[in-house]
Amino acid sequence: MPPQLTIIIPVFNEQESLGAFLDAVRTPLAQALDVIGPQASAELLFVDDGSSDRTPDMLAILAGLDARVRYLRLSRNFGKEAAIAAGLQHARGAAVVPMDVDLQDPPELLPALVREWVAGAKVVNARRVDRSSDSRLKRWTAHGFYRAVNLMAETPIPENVGDYRLLDRAAVDVINRLGESARFNKGLFAWVGFRVATVDYVRSQRHAGETKWRWRRLWSLALDGITASTTAPLRIWTYVGGVTALSAFAYAAFLVLHTLITGIDTPGYASIMISVLMLGGIQLLSIGIMGEYIGRIAKEVRQRPLYVVEQDSAAEPDHGSSEREEAWTRPPMRA
Ligand code: UDP
Ligand code: MG
Repeated sequence: MPPQLTIIIPVFNEQESLGAFLDAVRTPLAQALDVIGPQASAELLFVDDGSSDRTPDMLAILAGLDARVRYLRLSRNFGKEAAIAAGLQHARGAAVVPMDVDLQDPPELLPALVREWVAGAKVVNARRVDRSSDSRLKRWTAHGFYRAVNLMAETPIPENVGDYRLLDRAAVDVINRLGESARFNKGLFAWVGFRVATVDYVRSQRHAGETKWRWRRLWSLALDGITASTTAPLRIWTYVGGVTALSAFAYAAFLVLHTLITGIDTPGYASIMISVLMLGGIQLLSIGIMGEYIGRIAKEVRQRPLYVVEQDSAAEPDHGSSEREEAWTRPPMRA
């Protein structure tokens, strides 16, 4: 019988955190299963995102000790978004919860998430009410990002909701069918719709090790988020161009009239320099933004898989090779 609940835990060089995570999750998980029913079972699906430390060995040992532990090993580091996509595609549960291993997503919230699910919600968001554990710069940039995206996006992305949330099988199946390779999970999770409930929590400090996100990665995640959620940045340039052209016409008319009336044409070095530089800058910026979208189109056209599974502990040992093939079969592009 398939488990009712799958916890997806992407891990990248997390040897210090694995043990503490399993300890911390045990009780809340049991409570969450009690909410579902007496027969309910869970699956802890670790997705090893190409770790280079002892994480894979530890996962193999943990899977031997605890039948609920299962792991996927990706062939290299594909990033958290791809790791979660892999987890969602391999999860067997009727409800799925992606969760960080560093205990920043408190496991104590699991019973509350499951309660909302049992009550009928298909997506249960966990919302951070206090982010004082993040640096001020990170909070500020995150806030700015959500403001910017939600100004433009067709489906608003809830602020302060991370990847930690409960997704019903119905929502997971929809997400698994989305064929895009530029993954921005928070945008996809918001896009699926269904009945949404929200549970609040306070985000704590990272348990051990340090954050695996570098600013460059966050920046490219933010760009993925914007380009995946909206094409408004492309459209802005129609209006900017229109306004610039109109003012250029007005200014030209002014210059002609001025010369006709006063008879002298003004020396205009400054105004020419300013308009040349300004227009040049605007054009480069707009070309750059188009480039962001075109680059992503090129990436989607290549149709590479999101991730490559090297090993699935649930498929060992006889299906090893077919599992590798399966990672290459992409979900159908049209639902
Ligand atoms: N992670 C991953 N692949 C990566 C980076 C991170 O699977 O390339 C995992 C990591 O092991 C952790 C989760 O994603 O379980 C969140 O990472 P982290 O705590 O470093 O991010 P932050 O909490 O700072 O956003
Ligand atoms: Mg963290």
